Amino acid sequence: MIESETRNSTTQEVVAELRRRSAFVMVSHVKPDGDTLGAGLGLGIALKRMGKRVQYFQQDPVPRNLRFLPDTEHVAREIPADMPPDTLYVFCDMSDFGRAGEYLPKLERENMLDIDHHLGNSHFGAFNYVLPDECSTGTTIMHLLREMKVEIDSEIATCILTTIMTDTGGFMHSNTSPASLDLAAELMRAGADKEEITEEIFANRRVAATRLLGRVIDEMEFGHDGRYCRSHVDDAMLQETGADGEDTEDVVNVLRSQENVEVAALFKAYDGEIRVSLRSSGRINVQAAAARLGGGGHFRASGLTFHGPLEEGYKAVEAALVAEGL
Ligand code: 5GP
Ligand code: MN
Repeated sequence: MIESETRNSTTQEVVAELRRRSAFVMVSHVKPDGDTLGAGLGLGIALKRMGKRVQYFQQDPVPRNLRFLPDTEHVAREIPADMPPDTLYVFCDMSDFGRAGEYLPKLERENMLDIDHHLGNSHFGAFNYVLPDECSTGTTIMHLLREMKVEIDSEIATCILTTIMTDTGGFMHSNTSPASLDLAAELMRAGADKEEITEEIFANRRVAATRLLGRVIDEMEFGHDGRYCRSHVDDAMLQETGADGEDTEDVVNVLRSQENVEVAALFKAYDGEIRVSLRSSGRINVQAAAARLGGGGHFRASGLTFHGPLEEGYKAVEAALVAEGL
């Protein structure tokens, strides 16, 4: 048991556990994205086809641009009281248990499976299936589906292709490998609707979101010889533009894509907290910088919650980035 708390489980061990259990709760992280949700839905649909009972838990609502995914109408914040004692809670795309939010009931570690692709995953489950070389949690799950000999139908294929397109930024980020492109092709052949995914996720911007983007661009500040770009969103900006938190999701990438910028930071100071999104062009490890302040993520994309005044947050994040070589 001690050993299994720290090491990764093998594909066979995870599949054996999935077969053994009768019921599952697929758990997605707070402020869900296409990877955490697509991965949970893809595996959940496969488990249902095997005759298992499956519930989906997520603290926050399904974002507007992901409602096209199959089974999202069953995603809920409540877990039915009659779940059997052998229920396995499957955490998708979370480097740490805390990313699931505050509303989960108390769980035994032996009923937790952690499936992820983050570098600094804390292996919080009794079963941990963490493959940091995978571009998404969805492609991590594909290894399990193959071992289970599940037929990849169009619904599952759409879920998994969504995870790839989300986490590669539409095949643009550095985690886009020949393997991820091969898999994307295979999923399209299996019936994944790439057009729909592109439309819903990348080409369906609300006007309010674009107006907010304009405000964020107005507020850009540069430092470190133009290698650092910082901006923010606050309650007033959301009110002025009619945008909401969902509309801030990909804004930080615009900051990162300015010429010469090596690191971008977007401070999302609304709803009573400060969430910080960090993006790197590849030289500076923003996962390590975020981890210095209690957050995490990937080498090129990370996030954290800052507790304190915004000005202090600016200083703390900049110091963490400097410590990582900015
Ligand atoms: P985003 O900036 O899009 O919210 O997050 C970028 C990446 O950092 C994602 O992979 C996300 O999982 C991770 N991340 C964001 N916020 C946190 C956090 O508070 N803690 C940890 N451990 N990871 C985070
Ligand atoms: Mn992911």
